[in-house]
Amino acid sequence: MTGDVIDVLVAGGGPAGLATALNAALAGMTVVVVEPRLAPVDKACGEGLMPSGVAALHALGVHPPGHPLRGIRYLDPHRHADAPFRATTGLGVRRTCLHAALMARVASLGIPVVQGKVTGVRQDSEGVEVSVHMSPPVSPMSGTPVRTDPKRHAAHADPKRLATHADPHHLPAHADPENLAAHADPHHLPPHADPERLAAHADRHHLPAHADPENLAAHADPHHLPPHAGPHHRAAHADPRRSPVCTDTVRFTMPSDGTAAVELAAADLAGDGTLRARWLVAADGLRSPLREALGLALPAGTAPRRYGLRRHFRVAPWTDFVEVYWAERSEAYVTPVAEDMVGVAVLSSERRTYDEHLTAFPALLDRLTGPPVTSVRGAGPMRRRVRSRVHGRVLLAGDAAGYVDALTGEGVSLALLSAEALIASLRSGRPESYDRAWLRISRPHRLLTTALLTTRRHPTPTRLIVPAARTFPHVFTAAVNTLA
Ligand SMILES: Cc1cc2nc3c(=O)[nH]c(=O)nc-3n(C[C@H](O)[C@H](O)[C@H](O)COP(=O)(O)OP(=O)(O)OC[C@H]3O[C@@H](n4cnc5c(N)ncnc54)[C@H](O)[C@@H]3O)c2cc1C
Repeated sequence: MTGDVIDVLVAGGGPAGLATALNAALAGMTVVVVEPRLAPVDKACGEGLMPSGVAALHALGVHPPGHPLRGIRYLDPHRHADAPFRATTGLGVRRTCLHAALMARVASLGIPVVQGKVTGVRQDSEGVEVSVHMSPPVSPMSGTPVRTDPKRHAAHADPKRLATHADPHHLPAHADPENLAAHADPHHLPPHADPERLAAHADRHHLPAHADPENLAAHADPHHLPPHAGPHHRAAHADPRRSPVCTDTVRFTMPSDGTAAVELAAADLAGDGTLRARWLVAADGLRSPLREALGLALPAGTAPRRYGLRRHFRVAPWTDFVEVYWAERSEAYVTPVAEDMVGVAVLSSERRTYDEHLTAFPALLDRLTGPPVTSVRGAGPMRRRVRSRVHGRVLLAGDAAGYVDALTGEGVSLALLSAEALIASLRSGRPESYDRAWLRISRPHRLLTTALLTTRRHPTPTRLIVPAARTFPHVFTAAVNTLA
């Protein structure tokens, strides 16, 4: 694992990073993923996959369980409008299930996943040298620490070499691994975060250093209640039912043929050190510390900052559509993710608790007859503007490459499609072509989402969104299928 043997080093093991790694491996390239969190990783997400995203997953050999989606439905207190998908179905899929399915495929191809954080990068004409701060190595199979050889460890991590790197692209000195973790985390909360969000935040990030899959499962356990749990939460605690298809206690199981490669990587790369590769893909999420360190971020602009909060409820889905409820200052998204579970994501620029936001949607509250079964997770601000997605030998993927809003809900699909384009650009020897490919793939999403957000800033046009979708069903359906 030394020298120039790694073709592509991927920082970040979310959907974008894992899809990039899978595309690279399937193209015959050597690839290593660096990700600090153990599988299955959860995240604030609406969890609706567009048909194009489902097709991209299937092309990679990834088949997560979930709930088929027939289209998008817009609702206001008086009416609704449906836009069915034309070609095929989408998929409502819990993030934990999506991540587990991606990781299983990664393992089956023998792609090493190193548990750690990328903390810096320097590049020359031949490749990139990437600093990695290792988390204590843990076997993904057993959850127990992997034994490491200190001599081998030392050979890979020369502290003097690291210390003498005076590289402008090295992450700031004050970005120690813990700070970096906070900055890297798409769920890092804004200063005005409300107590409920802070509770959800604290709940997830106070994992012990040796966090293993069981710990993660415990944190995602519906019975693990936040301290402020009210009677509604306690009902969840008493509820013995389980989703037969996709649960929040889903366990990551490593196929036997992939185990050796992953454990070898964990042992070989244990400790802080550097990895050399031909290319670095920064797939480190919305807040992307690599994008920031490389100076690729642009100011977000003057539009209000929007955040997303999500939670799941134990209730049988009442529809095969993703439902989007429009209120004056927020939207609520309902995505069926299992036979007995729906996810509800709320998007807004207003500072309120999740429960306060839900009061803006009385018709939806009537539907949520079952108890909440996950804690509230938040993400944002969502809008991220990027100067360029290619910077020498570093390429940005997924949310790190730029993001408008979750309003039209296709971030994962975009991540999957652009991961394919990224690897195609490397294979063709024209990495710079990736930037144009990304702009082309994301254009419909960027245009439509920006138009909707502009409309949202004014109460009167906002009130016309659902009536307009109902009056012009062909336009609504065409718009949804442009994104699908
Ligand atoms: C409220 C909300 C609702 C949404 N709804 C939908 C929806 O319905 N459908 C849809 O398709 N999309 C939706 N999205 C968007 C979707 O969640 C994202 O587009 C998607 O998660 C992007 O994947 P990613 O891999 O780029 O980032 P992430 O999933 O955030 O993964 C980034 C990974 O990088 C890791 N990382 C961070 N720093 C480092 C580092 N220094 N070194 C190594 N690794 C690092 C993190 O641990 C993380 O695992 C929604 C988003 C929000 C906020």
